[in-house]
Amino acid sequence: MPRSYVHEARRRVGPKRARIRPIIERLRAEYPDAKIALHYRTDLELLVSVMLSAQTTDVNVNRVTERLFEKYKRPEDYLAVPQEELERDIYATGFFRQKTKSLRGTMRVLLEEFDGRVPRTIPELLRLPGVARKTANVVAAELGNPQGVVVDTHVRRLSQRLGLTKHEDPVKIERDLAKLVPRADWGRFPHLLIWHGRRICDARRPLCEECVLAGLCPSSRIEIV
Ligand code: SF4
Repeated sequence: MPRSYVHEARRRVGPKRARIRPIIERLRAEYPDAKIALHYRTDLELLVSVMLSAQTTDVNVNRVTERLFEKYKRPEDYLAVPQEELERDIYATGFFRQKTKSLRGTMRVLLEEFDGRVPRTIPELLRLPGVARKTANVVAAELGNPQGVVVDTHVRRLSQRLGLTKHEDPVKIERDLAKLVPRADWGRFPHLLIWHGRRICDARRPLCEECVLAGLCPSSRIEIV
């Protein structure tokens, strides 16, 4: 895209600080039910689902966990079966050997250090084997204690298109978003972007003509008068 066009587009929509609230409000009105797509009933099921969701789709994880959670209800249950059995039970989520190792390591630490409960802070969650920052952020936010803004592929793409960040690195994008998005919205904001990304702002074919953010977006392909 020519530089002058980018400049003009940014000038047209105004500074990001002035746009962030209307962006959140419009997305909230559009997707009042926006929430995590993973199915879970307990804190432990949430943690396991998020760990299994690496490199696969939420739909796939839900298909696997529907049966998994009937069999494994407590941290002890993941350690009571042979490793190969757990590998078979989560096979369809991909990377099953690594995920099994992480799950079993995590269950051990939960039992040894957290009384079998899922902790709520990022530093505690990061003590669990196989739990990286993104997983910790998702879990903490879902448990009502958002301590950052979760950046996945949709959040990254939409933040860039909306001119909220110029970065590629998820950690730097998270930093930009955390400065911009009111703290009370840290948990909800990624879900709003993810829902919008799945329905309207597709990676290859964004439907700008149907987008409620068109007037606030420097990447909009339609003329706003
Ligand atoms: S206007 Fe287009 S590029 Fe911008 S957020 Fe909407 S769909 Fe995406």
